[in-house]
Amino acid sequence: MSKHAVTKVNSAENVAYSHDLPKTPVDAAFQASQTGKINVSMTALVGCWGCTLSFLDMDERLLTLLDKVTILRSSLTDIKRIPERCVVGFVEGGVASEENIETLEHFRENCDILISVGACAVWGGVPSMRNMLPLSECLEEAFVSSITSVSGVIPIIPDHPDLPKVTTKVYPCHEVVKMDYFIPGCPPDGDAIFKVLDDLVNGRAVDLPTSMNRYD
Ligand code: SF4
Repeated sequence: MSKHAVTKVNSAENVAYSHDLPKTPVDAAFQASQTGKINVSMTALVGCWGCTLSFLDMDERLLTLLDKVTILRSSLTDIKRIPERCVVGFVEGGVASEENIETLEHFRENCDILISVGACAVWGGVPSMRNMLPLSECLEEAFVSSITSVSGVIPIIPDHPDLPKVTTKVYPCHEVVKMDYFIPGCPPDGDAIFKVLDDLVNGRAVDLPTSMNRYD
């Protein structure tokens, strides 16, 4: 006997039986072009929010995209979790804490296409400069020997169960979960972000010309 379910299909004239085979995953870009409007989410891990601001550099083109895009979880909407499945997820920033790992895995589970936006997400960027030193030295410099330490107050390195643990190194996103596309730059140009989103929304293969890539 087949392991697949058998479904009775009724129509006005006929009664037929069909096997429910496992669904072949639909290409996300094709699906996006067919459904008319796609869900998009974005998040910021460890970065400076400069890449998020590049989204706003799309200016009035953002408004034209809103006919085809519903923005769910983002710093614009301030929704903390992705409320329903998304076709596209944008990630700014590298991974520097347990909380970053959890957020990135949440995005991977809930987005068909996940995109690293900016140098921090693509290869670690500025935050990964701390990878050249032991974490203990970085914490010591930040909290104990800092020039902003208050005289007369015994400095401590924060260590509370409610605080997310800091990772030993700062990691690019693709070393934690699979990433589908990368938009380099610090930050990337708003034009580049628009090009990638416009390709996906219109069901085209993502094609970011070299001239739109930034490596500074
Ligand atoms: S890539 Fe540059 S602009 Fe983007 S979050 Fe990192 S430091 Fe900021």
